[in-house]
Amino acid sequence: MLLIHCPYCEEARPELEFRHAGEAHVSRPAATETLDDEAVAESLYIRTNNRGLVLERWRHIHGCGRFFNAARHSVTDKFYAFYKAGEAAPEIDETADWSPALFGAGANPGVAPKLGATGAPDGPAAGEGESAR
Ligand SMILES: [Zn+2]
Repeated sequence: MLLIHCPYCEEARPELEFRHAGEAHVSRPAATETLDDEAVAESLYIRTNNRGLVLERWRHIHGCGRFFNAARHSVTDKFYAFYKAGEAAPEIDETADWSPALFGAGANPGVAPKLGATGAPDGPAAGEGESAR
């Protein structure tokens, strides 16, 4: 079970008291009346979904009820920071103890494949790497 620190209550509580509320620091685009349908849909539904450090909103639903932000690693679920809504994201050393080497090929086969510079998984594409018959 995860322990989540509410920056308003100033204590760590079990994750069951909280509800994930999506990506943090998402702002509404300016002049929405000039956007086409595709741009509106993208602003509403498309999120970054990073593998690694993510900044996300949480709500202490069974506590103070307030929204706050957290910096979490999406693979390890380790939280690196908690901060109040409206505050700027803290600077986080992404190389701390979550180096990509920890998740590279062979390091932990049970973890998702290492992402390349394009964001696509490294390794053979579908159909490649199979022996010709
Ligand atoms: Zn709270």
